[in-house]
Amino acid sequence: MTERLFWQDPYAREFTARVVRRTARGLVLDRTLFYPTGGGQPHDTGTINGVRVADVVEEGDDIVHVLEGEVPVSDVKGSIDWDRRLDHMQQHDGQHILSEAFVRVCGAETASFHLGREICTIDLDKADVTARHAEEAEALANRVVWENRPITAGFFSREEAAKRPLRKPPQVEGRIRIVEVRDFDACACCGTHAKSSGETGVILVVGVERRKADSRVSFVCGRRALAYAREDIALLREAGGRLSASRTGVPGAVERVMAEAAEARKALAAAEKQLAEHRGRELAAAAPARGRARFAVEVFENRDLKYLQTVANIVVASSGLVAILGGTGEASSVVLARSKDVEVDLRPIAKEVFAVVEGRGGGQPHFVQGGGPGRNVREALRLAEERIAAHLG
Ligand SMILES: [Zn+2]
Repeated sequence: MTERLFWQDPYAREFTARVVRRTARGLVLDRTLFYPTGGGQPHDTGTINGVRVADVVEEGDDIVHVLEGEVPVSDVKGSIDWDRRLDHMQQHDGQHILSEAFVRVCGAETASFHLGREICTIDLDKADVTARHAEEAEALANRVVWENRPITAGFFSREEAAKRPLRKPPQVEGRIRIVEVRDFDACACCGTHAKSSGETGVILVVGVERRKADSRVSFVCGRRALAYAREDIALLREAGGRLSASRTGVPGAVERVMAEAAEARKALAAAEKQLAEHRGRELAAAAPARGRARFAVEVFENRDLKYLQTVANIVVASSGLVAILGGTGEASSVVLARSKDVEVDLRPIAKEVFAVVEGRGGGQPHFVQGGGPGRNVREALRLAEERIAAHLG
């Protein structure tokens, strides 16, 4: 059984130990400061005799140190990465306090905790946790942080533990380690915790989202909260710079830009419609006669189906006309239309024509549209003209 020095002194950074066992995965020592992954808290990193510790895992009562190299001697010196440990303690202390705050604010119990690389999350057992609840819980939790309450950890028997005001019933057998934030929270936990709540610094809730029957709260504490706020400031400054707006003026400036863009889109659509109608009238007037109808044939560069439809509708509003229109762009578009008095069913012809641009389409006997990825629009239009002319005789 490995002696857990990180429980005796969570602030110690260096230790000496003796190698007890070498397993396939790594080294077992008689005692260690390296916290193994568990209880939502990731493992410590650091070195043993200068060799990097890549992972730390529990195997029964033993703690196994997974190393990136060989440590051939039996008396070793270990050193943990203090920045990482402090970060984990800040997140984990913050989680205990925040979890109890959510119980008090909206009766939501913490079902699970994840201490991620960038963001921490707790899943609450209620679906209806709101942003307002999160604000209140965050305010309460930070009051507890700034009151700098003592945090203590100790082992208790089941009977003793039953008398403590535990947030959740413990799920382990035997003696139970209880972490308490004085007069606020008590919880069974095996993690590393600071001596006082003030060391958490600040707790910042960054999101609440509903997940089926639960709610997931994302948060960061201590130095992570500072880094998060710094990043937000940088993003806001960048956005503000592009919009020529102050920090508080960014949302208003975004709204203005979006309204302007919507206006511009509307004006452009109106102008395009006018242009299409104008082109339709020109095409109809100039369409040469072929047999019993006049044929308006045209390819429009970088125009979509909607534009072609508008042009075609104008063309066939006059009598005796056939419109055979193509559009180029990301895909090829084709519209075939005829005036009411021109008797030809365009649907069977369209099938053949759309195949030329490797696409498909459909419509009614007097008006069909479609398109495809093929580039040979002009060939498709030539075929359409041949087929329609042949039909009309
Ligand atoms: Zn804990």
